[in-house]
Amino acid sequence: MSQLFDLSGRLALVTGSSRGIGRELARALANAGATIILHGRDEQRLAETAADFTSRYGEERVHSVCFDVTDDASVRENIAAIEKNIGAIRILVNNAGIQHRVPMLDLEVADWQRVIDTNLTSAFLVGREVARGMVERGEGKIINICSVQTDLARPTISAYTAAKGGLRNLTRAMTAEWAGAGLQINGIAPGYIHTEMTQNLVDDEKFNSWILGRTPAARWGTVEDLAGPAIWLASDGSNYVNGQTIFIDGGMSVVV
Ligand code: NDP
Repeated sequence: MSQLFDLSGRLALVTGSSRGIGRELARALANAGATIILHGRDEQRLAETAADFTSRYGEERVHSVCFDVTDDASVRENIAAIEKNIGAIRILVNNAGIQHRVPMLDLEVADWQRVIDTNLTSAFLVGREVARGMVERGEGKIINICSVQTDLARPTISAYTAAKGGLRNLTRAMTAEWAGAGLQINGIAPGYIHTEMTQNLVDDEKFNSWILGRTPAARWGTVEDLAGPAIWLASDGSNYVNGQTIFIDGGMSVVV
């Protein structure tokens, strides 16, 4: 691998990496040489993922932490513990997220809040705590996992759409505040990717054929499709890329 994309010796935290897209992003960064901190809420699932990673990459290069990304106190406590006991986080991927599908007229405020907290506020909470150390050290890469819904809206996912749009602008706000200290903060906006979160949509014949027709590449994305862009944004290959959100969506966002 070109040295430009070599992540050897760099410590990377990927939130929500116990499964789905986060797990694949963690694997991509580990394949590029990074030491990985896996993360999730479900201890059992996290332990299974950690065991798999350890068998591939060895004990020294795999750590795991369990905390709720929406809980300010827990985020502060866990990030401080990582920096003290494991090492300086040099790459952060804010990936943890949830969806809640319901027409806006039926959307309860508690559900609205949960979706905003998990998809948007979490990136502020984790990003702020990790950036404290990065700013002090004068370097660091943050990748915020947005969505094609960052720019496009569809019925029944209003809170998610609002959160992901906010996350794109939070990426810009982080850039405005921290780029001068040597940090690069960018976003990845995946299109429709086949994971646990979207399994029900893949199984829905009508929705599935809509996706295939609506996506110029005429297929669902796979978690592997996101690996290359993530390695690039985490590496020295992107050192002058600041505040951008890259759409990995088979062309969905550029056609009507
Ligand atoms: P999954 O549902 O497969 O995985 C979500 C991950 O986030 C899990 O590891 C889960 O941990 C974790 N998580 C959720 N809530 C919390 C929380 N409050 N605290 C800590 N961890 C939490 O989702 P995907 O892999 O499909 O999606 C990952 C990201 O990619 C999300 O931000 C999503 O919005 C975005 N995305 C997904 C697309 C898709 O098509 N799949 C398209 C565009 C964007 P646990 O198992 O412990 O609950």
